[in-house]
Order: sequence, then structure tokens, then C-alpha cells
Amino acid sequence: MKLIFERTSAGRHLNLLPECDVPEFALASEMKRQTKPFLPELSEVDVDRHYTQLAKQTHGVNDGFYPLGSCTMKYNPRINEEMAALPGFTGIHPLQDDEEVQGCLEVIDRLEKALCEITAMDHVTFQPAAGAHGEFTGLQLIRAYHLHHGDTKRTKIIVPDSAHGTNPASAVMVGFDVVNIPSDDKGCVDLDALKNAVGEDTAGLMLTNPNTVGLFDPNIAEITKIVHDAGGLCYYDGANLNAVMGIVRPGDMGFDCVHMNLHKTFSTPHGGGGPGAGPVGCKAFLADYLPGKLTIHEDGFKLVTPKQTIGQVRTFYGNFLVVVRALCYVLSLGKEGIPEAAKGAVLNANYMMHQLAHDYDMAYTGPCMHEFVMTLDKLHKETGISALDVAKRLLDFGIHPPTMYFPLIVHEALMVEPTETESIETLDEAVEIFKQILKEAKENPDMLHGAPHNTPIGRPDEVKAARTPILRFER
Ligand SMILES: *Cc1c(COP(=O)(O)O)cnc(C)c1O
Repeated sequence: MKLIFERTSAGRHLNLLPECDVPEFALASEMKRQTKPFLPELSEVDVDRHYTQLAKQTHGVNDGFYPLGSCTMKYNPRINEEMAALPGFTGIHPLQDDEEVQGCLEVIDRLEKALCEITAMDHVTFQPAAGAHGEFTGLQLIRAYHLHHGDTKRTKIIVPDSAHGTNPASAVMVGFDVVNIPSDDKGCVDLDALKNAVGEDTAGLMLTNPNTVGLFDPNIAEITKIVHDAGGLCYYDGANLNAVMGIVRPGDMGFDCVHMNLHKTFSTPHGGGGPGAGPVGCKAFLADYLPGKLTIHEDGFKLVTPKQTIGQVRTFYGNFLVVVRALCYVLSLGKEGIPEAAKGAVLNANYMMHQLAHDYDMAYTGPCMHEFVMTLDKLHKETGISALDVAKRLLDFGIHPPTMYFPLIVHEALMVEPTETESIETLDEAVEIFKQILKEAKENPDMLHGAPHNTPIGRPDEVKAARTPILRFER
């Protein structure tokens, strides 16, 4: 497929911009570029076809099944988009006075209250733009709290090895040292290891729960108690609340702050880099450190700056239209629908795991939460077919591959998260395809090594694509 820059034809264009109806303003000459920018010149139909072709080359939730573990790629109801496109939300400016944007402040306030209810927290900030950004923000709160109490020795964050990869990275970004602790043979936190790790230098613990192998830690209350008794705080990675929302709450499990991914659980489309939102909820004793401004409701909605704020972590209100989508989603599900969605997510994952368990090895036995992890270690040793080969072959059947080689504690891992928005027919079809690929692995391994066969691109050099991407067209 040609790039849009390669389709350019000098002088061709489309006139979509209206006549200028404000006074023209001349920029100082040193602010102007010296050469004309190279912008593609195309007619409307060419632009339309270009983007339609691009869209056909990718795979989204609206193309087919997308069981990408830990990412909660669920269907996002169209009503959310309609609400986020209302001119009252899209036509505002962040510098407008509070009185002029009362409706928008009410949206923020109502979602804050709903998320507080779902997580058992007292306040929520919508500044963070993504999950990892939320982790960074939450850890800043923990850091600010200890410093404010003169507790400068607390420099360590404990991170179990079943945590999401962003957890240790965020802790390092905030300036903490990371203490890794191992999981037990059931895939949960090893309590003895935790007891040995805590001490006077413990700033806190970061826990992903359900963890990245799809398990709800049965010792959760004891875990938070061990950390609190040592003077540390507890951070809950709630990026995927899909299995627990409306059923159990991080605040009730003893956590002091939590981030949520609105672009996972709360139905904002994601992939391709955003925009998303990773709001952070905290208990009242941390609220004074929150970034940005909080909405309060007295005589209309107002914005106030928390007293000991860590400052801004993003401009203005964060990604406001993501907040609109999430509120629409929460209100359309309601108090009954939210736990219903969570149960659907858990049921779908367990159904699929059960249907596959005769053919594929599961990393952990017993019921899972919203996702499950298979290990293709034995298959790899017997046939040479790796998790990557199976993942690539799924593409030929119109299924997005599961998350691969993660969590790191499982060899040849495939992590499957079906989500609650899939029907039993879709799950059954996927199960059949997984089984067929297993047969192919035994009968025709070469074909699998060459998969995918039906996609525009087969096996790009992923390291090169990540490390040295070519993002700019050179003439
Ligand atoms: C997705 C995810 C994150 C990171 O969220 P981003 O929005 O991608 O930064 C963190 N923790 C868990 C458990 C996740 O699944």
C-alpha cells in the first residue's frame, strides 16, 4: 500500500476550511518556517480511500474477537461515542470560567462519586492520561505522604513478580527502589517473602489484583495488613477492574490508593496509543496531595486545589471526553449492570478455559477471574511450535492473538481475556480454532512457522519496530 505522501499530486486539494472571518494576525518573521512544509496534496476521495484501506489492514474489536489478556478489549457501546460528541462537551475551552462549564464539572463530579463507590475510595483525580501515568501519580501521593510525615527512610516499593510490567517501572520513575518478591506455586503473593521484605524502609506495596495470571489473591486482607503494620501504604493496580467491579472493592481490601483504566474497564476504545485515562482514587488521608484540581459541590460546582498538591501531572482536566464516555457507560449499566458485567467477564473466561483445558496446558488450575494463562511449554518441546506461532496463526482466522510471553513467570505463555461482551457462539468458534491450530501443530508445523498467511504483514521484526521505528517520511 502506498503512503499518503506517495500519492500526492501538486495542486490537488479539497476546500473544507471556511473563509477566515477574524482579523488576520501576522507572525514575526523569526517565528515562521523558512521552507514550505511537505504536506500531501490529495482530493477528498483519495484521502477517504487511503484511510479506509488503512482501517481494513488493522484489527479492532469491531472486526472480530480480541482476547488480548490484561487489556480488556471489550466492545464499547456506540452510545458512549454519541454522548462524547455532543457539542456542549466538544465545544468548550479549558480556560472557561467554572460558571460556564457547570455541566462538564457535574460530569466529572458524578463519575468521581461513582468510581469512589466502586473502589471504596474518598476522592478521584482524572488528571492521569493512562494506567502507567496513574501508577506514577499514586506513587507520588505515597511519597508525598511519607515526606510530609518526615519519614525520609521509606524509599522502597515492594512489587510481586506477578505484577504488571508498568508497576516496577513507575516506582523507579518516582525515585523508589523496587523490591521484587516471588509468587508462591499457586501464582499468588508469597506471604513469608512479603514478611521478610517489609521494614522501616518500606514506602509501600504495589499489587495487581486479580494478578496477571488471572487470580484473585486469597490472602489479600493479610497482605495489606502486613504492609500497614510495617508503616507502608498499599497501592492497588486496578487497571482491569473487570472481574471485581460492583463485587469487591480495593478500599475494603485495605488499599489506600488505586488507579483504574477508563480505557479498559470503563469502555473507552483503546489501542493505537490513546486517548485514555488512568484516574487515581485515594482514601481521605491522601486527598490533600492529589494533583490538579478537585470538583466540589457547594452553590454550584467549583474547582479547588488540594492543600499539599503534588502539582499538575497533566494539563487542565485530563482527557475529559474519556470521562464522558465512562460516565455514560456507568450510568447505562447502573448498580445492577456493573456486577453483572463483572460476572459475565469471569464466566466467559472460565468457560473458555474449561473448554480448552483438555487440549492446552493451563498455567494454573482452578477457577480464574477475567483471564486465564496457558503454557505452551510442552507443545514447544514436542513440536517446536511456540506461543508466537499459535498467536500468529490465530490472525489467519480473524482473531487477535492473546497476550504472549507474559506474565514472565510462565513459559510460552498465552494470556486470554475474552471479556463479557462476547457471545457463547464467538467463544465456541474461538475454542474450535484453538483446537484446530493444535492439530496443525502436530501435522503441519512448517505451515504454522510461516503464519500468518492472510494478513497484509506477516512477521515484522518487532524489536526493530519498537526500538528504531521509522515515523517520518523522507523524500
Ligand atoms: C494495562 C495495564 C496497565 C497500564 O495501563 P496503560 O494505560 O497501558 O498505561 C497497568 N496495569 C495493568 C494490570 C494493566 O493491565
